[in-house]
Parts: sequence; C-alpha cells; structure tokens
Amino acid sequence: MPYYLILLCMFLVPINILAKPLRIFVSVLPMQTFVQQIGGQYVDVRAMVRPGYNPHIYDPTPQQIGALAQARLYIKTGVPFENAWMHRIQAANPNMQILDVRAGIELRKMPSHDHENDHEDHHGHASNAHDENELDPHVWTSPLLVKHIANKIRETLTQLDPDHAQVYERNYTHFAKALTKLDQEIHALLDPLPNRKFMIFHPAWGYFAQAYNLIQIPIEREGKAPGPRRLANLIAQARRENVRVIFVQPQFDKRLAQQVAQAIGGHVISIDPLAADYIPNLRRVANQIVKALHR
Ligand SMILES: [Zn+2]
Repeated sequence: MPYYLILLCMFLVPINILAKPLRIFVSVLPMQTFVQQIGGQYVDVRAMVRPGYNPHIYDPTPQQIGALAQARLYIKTGVPFENAWMHRIQAANPNMQILDVRAGIELRKMPSHDHENDHEDHHGHASNAHDENELDPHVWTSPLLVKHIANKIRETLTQLDPDHAQVYERNYTHFAKALTKLDQEIHALLDPLPNRKFMIFHPAWGYFAQAYNLIQIPIEREGKAPGPRRLANLIAQARRENVRVIFVQPQFDKRLAQQVAQAIGGHVISIDPLAADYIPNLRRVANQIVKALHR
C-alpha cells in the first residue's frame, strides 16, 4: 500500500469512530426527549418502552436486547419492568455504563393501602415497606426534577464524549431555562385553584402533585385494581370531594375509571405521563387539571 494511503487510513479510522453518535438506551419516552435535548446530533437515543406500551409490565424485544451490544449508556428510571429486566440488560453489554436518574432525588413512596378512609381488609399482606418496587419511579413528572435529571445527563455525556462538552453545556442551559419557564407557567395555572384534589386511575403524577401542592387520589393501589368494597368507598369519596373528572392514562384499561365516573355523573379524561413532547404535554396536563378542578 502506498505510503500516502496508509497515512490517509490513519486519519480516516479515528474520524469515523468519532463521527458515530453515542448509542444510548433509556426506559421511557420522556427520558429519550431529555437526552435528545442535551445530546442533539451526537446521540442516538432509543426508548425501551415503545409508544403505547405500559412500563409496568413491558418486556424488551430480542431486537432491543441485541441492540444493547452497541450501546454506550443505559439510563435507568426505576420503572417496574427494569426491576425485572436490569440484570439481563446489563448482561447484554457489560461495558455499557448505567446512569440511574433517581440518584440524588428523594423518592416518594407509591400510595399504599394504609391511607385515608380505606377500611378494606388486606389478607395477610407482608409488610415490605422498603421494597424498591414501592418507591414511586415517575420522577420525570416534575419539571424541576427534570432539570436535575438533565444536568446528570449532561455530566454523563460530557464524560463519555468530552469533545462536545461545550455543546452539551449550551444545550443543557437552554433546556433548563425552558423547564424553569414551564414550572412558573404551571404554578400560575394551578396555584389559584381552591380545590387541590384530583382522582386518577394509575397514580403516575406524585412528583407533579408534590411540586404544585396537589393531592392525587388513586383508584389503583400498589398496581392493583380495587375490589368492589374499595370501589364503593372511592365513589363515596369522589362524591364527598366533589370530583367530576377521573383521570386515566392511555396505556391502562379505562373501565374502572369509567365506572367511577358514571357513578358520580362525571367523565374520564386522559393525561399521558409518557408523552414524548414533554414540555407541551405538561402544559396540556396542567390545563386539563385546571378544567377538572375549577368550580
Ligand atoms: Zn406508571
């Protein structure tokens, strides 16, 4: 091989490697959006839980597990399917870095059975209060927590790809500003509401509720639908609290929510914690809550 060709190859090979975007896997779609906001053209992000699927019971496809072999980073959120699959995800590529976005966030407990006016018997439920599965994984529903998560993503991308540190920094600053603005908008919408309680089938909005001083009344508890007795209690509570809207999310069965809505002469509205268009979606959700709680 002529000398100049060898020289050319020496230059081309590393350039090709550098030009390849970092392959990153995340668990849910909003997380994909966050990584794209920070990483831009330098990342190739894929969400495990595809649109329309439920992260509580998701099984990754063999193709997804295969694609992990080329991944540099897996961003973990702690949604239930991950608790079941994490060791297989890790085994698929032991060199892949794992970032758990929950680090540094004070996690909420999922609403459990010992709350409020719930007198239903629980037949020999073991008390496993420190089970990781009982901690609420839906951290991304609070814009200010997303700012914290985005900064972690920035740190990790910078470490994996220091050449683009400035781009990641600039993108983060831009995204963080948008999140601060979103947070202020939502406060302006929700702060004046005299009624602070909303009823929902799957309690995915705990961090959102905490951030805006709202109370989420879940129909489902610990991933289980209520029995007839608790359902009757919930209907009575809905009447007492003047609830007129029952929130559901598109990935879950709506029948029980419809049953409650029918009993109180209200209706069911869908809000999606897994939408990919994070900022416009949160604005939509806040507006839906305003409509539902306005008297
Ligand atoms: Zn959920």
